Amino acid sequence: MIVALAGGVGGARLSVGLAAALPPEELAIVVNTGDDFEHLGFTICPDLDTVMYTLAGVNNAKTGWGRAGERWQFMGEIKRLQGEDWFQLGDRDLAVHVLRREALRRGRPLSEVTRDLAVRLGVRHRIIPMSDTPVRTRVKTRTRTLSFQDYFVRLRCAPRVTGFQFSGARAATVPPALRRLMRARQTEALVMCPSNPFVSIAPIMAVPAIRAWLRARDFPVVAVSPIIGGAAVKGPAAKIMRELGLKPSALALVRYYGDRVDRWVIDQQDAGLLGAIERMGKRVLIADTLMTGRSRSAALARRVVAFARDK
Ligand code: GDP
Ligand code: CA
Repeated sequence: MIVALAGGVGGARLSVGLAAALPPEELAIVVNTGDDFEHLGFTICPDLDTVMYTLAGVNNAKTGWGRAGERWQFMGEIKRLQGEDWFQLGDRDLAVHVLRREALRRGRPLSEVTRDLAVRLGVRHRIIPMSDTPVRTRVKTRTRTLSFQDYFVRLRCAPRVTGFQFSGARAATVPPALRRLMRARQTEALVMCPSNPFVSIAPIMAVPAIRAWLRARDFPVVAVSPIIGGAAVKGPAAKIMRELGLKPSALALVRYYGDRVDRWVIDQQDAGLLGAIERMGKRVLIADTLMTGRSRSAALARRVVAFARDK
């Protein structure tokens, strides 16, 4: 069993490749829920939905969120009625949110609701939220603390960040499916997708049971760098690194993660870092890590799996 940790775009891109490389019983994808929030009465789960839609092949690859072939009648009407329109919710996406809200309202845990939705969308691999109870990422700046969506969507990541809080993480309820997986001792390796280290991976690792499981691991943790040639492929990862006083590079990430990662997959553009990373006691795989399209995701995933399984 390979367990992957994933955020949204980078997470989904590698996850879809892993799903092509591994049968359903050999892969579990644990997804960040720190970005989740309440909006118009719905629980919005951006990363879960990005991973679910991507695995189902119904995602919008251009935007990195939402559905392909989306329609916007609902949003148009919300605007006309002067409702909150800063967060885009297409008609097809809306159907998922209506069903999710209904199931949550009846008391079903998020992990079960996610499984049912994924199955109905034709996803065969297991997608597990990191927590069944709310964990909410909060972004600290010098003067205030912002909710994640305020920072990410409304303010477009403009504020300079000084740190993050993951409220609810300490008391998070790990979904039964993830608990079983941690107990079963069948994990061959954990793969950290090239997701944002601070707002996608850190919230997952902030869940105490997950952190303890990883600390006591007898399997390797393999990370794919989200930083290529000193820049993020998409999103604020490099900007956040600079604001936290780190020089954006795969090498800085190796230092940042320290003992939490055993093996690194870095991009061919960063091949010059090989020696420095190996001197830090890590095994390194150099690969083409830019996943523009499904076949490139699958090609990278096959190499990552072989690297992760190598004794
Ligand atoms: P978000 O939740 O949508 O922000 O997505 P993630 O946290 O999962 O992924 C964001 C990170 O993915 C960014 O830091 C990007 O640099 C990285 N990323 C996106 N696409 C790729 C890719 O094709 N290759 C690599 N190596 N990183 C990627
Ligand atoms: Ca996200």
